[in-house]
Amino acid sequence: MDDNGYVYGFIPSNTEKICNTIGFIAHMDTAPAANGENVNPQIHTNYNGEDIILNKEKNIVLSMKEFPYLKNQIGKTLITSNGTTLLGADDKAGIAEIIEAIKYIIDNKEIEHGPIAIGFTPDEEVGRGADLFNVEKFNAHFAYTIDGGHLGELEYENFNAAGAVVNITGKSVHPGSAKDILINATTVAMEFHSLLPEDEVPEKTDGYDGFYMITDFKGSIECATLKYIIRDFDLDNLQRRKDLLKNIAERINEKYKKELVNVEVKDEYYNMKKVIEPVMYVIDLAKKSMEEAGVTANIVPIRGGTDGAKLSYMGLPTPNIFTGGANFHGIYEYISGEDMLKAKETIINIIKNDAINHDNTK
Ligand SMILES: [Zn+2]
Repeated sequence: MDDNGYVYGFIPSNTEKICNTIGFIAHMDTAPAANGENVNPQIHTNYNGEDIILNKEKNIVLSMKEFPYLKNQIGKTLITSNGTTLLGADDKAGIAEIIEAIKYIIDNKEIEHGPIAIGFTPDEEVGRGADLFNVEKFNAHFAYTIDGGHLGELEYENFNAAGAVVNITGKSVHPGSAKDILINATTVAMEFHSLLPEDEVPEKTDGYDGFYMITDFKGSIECATLKYIIRDFDLDNLQRRKDLLKNIAERINEKYKKELVNVEVKDEYYNMKKVIEPVMYVIDLAKKSMEEAGVTANIVPIRGGTDGAKLSYMGLPTPNIFTGGANFHGIYEYISGEDMLKAKETIINIIKNDAINHDNTK
């Protein structure tokens, strides 16, 4: 473990073949959005589709009606919290799956494999997990975060992201003598917001659609601040969105003939697709390895960011693989034991298949 709390592990190659060094990464921290202290996991064997009472006292129930994906879990072993905390499968499941896969590789010495690198990171849930990751020391050709959700998830596209702060300066005078003089910054802020496309918000978009989301609003007569996050899978579209914010500011400033509105935009992270596409071997390898474990790969765009996106731009292409969990960041979080085993198997197959693919000493 280094000074920043990152844990690294390395397993040397056991073959003459020149294979890729493959990395597997998971994060140790859990989401701050729900209580993560004193987690008391509950094991429900042979889930029959009926409501699971997480907490009788507080009447907290995990039901298929509310979470329809549960129908895919019938007959499996579910692990939940006791309804007072999150479970923390996000992403301790990823750590468990990597450790179990590596244990299997070490215990079964006849399996030929190239060099393997393991990384466990802190601070993923606050968006800082990649910041101090030592890509150079890790020295992998590519890696996978084991941090996805449902069985089969394989992700290598994520949003391009920017944040904007809109500052508005008003002019306060006594309301009794305000006519034609007072400029109410809060009113101007609402005007600014009303000029954004009202359907391009998270609650009305999905799939590959981007959005603007207001995340904070403070206003008085003298000044107002609006904060936005802006998301789009397409980088040109993200630019258009950023331009629109600036354009609205200009229009308002022109209307009032005063520099009332100031917009500051900052890029946050980028779509890893651009980095992964030239090395599609990384995706094909994962897909084949899932299929061999009897799992259908489900390639879906991530409507968010991942540490893997940042790592990809730091020179380590890093798509994301399922853990088998769901309802992350809250008290309804659960994971299926059987799906965890499939994640473990996928990791083992990735390691095996890369050695098989390098059936030479080139
Ligand atoms: Zn996670």
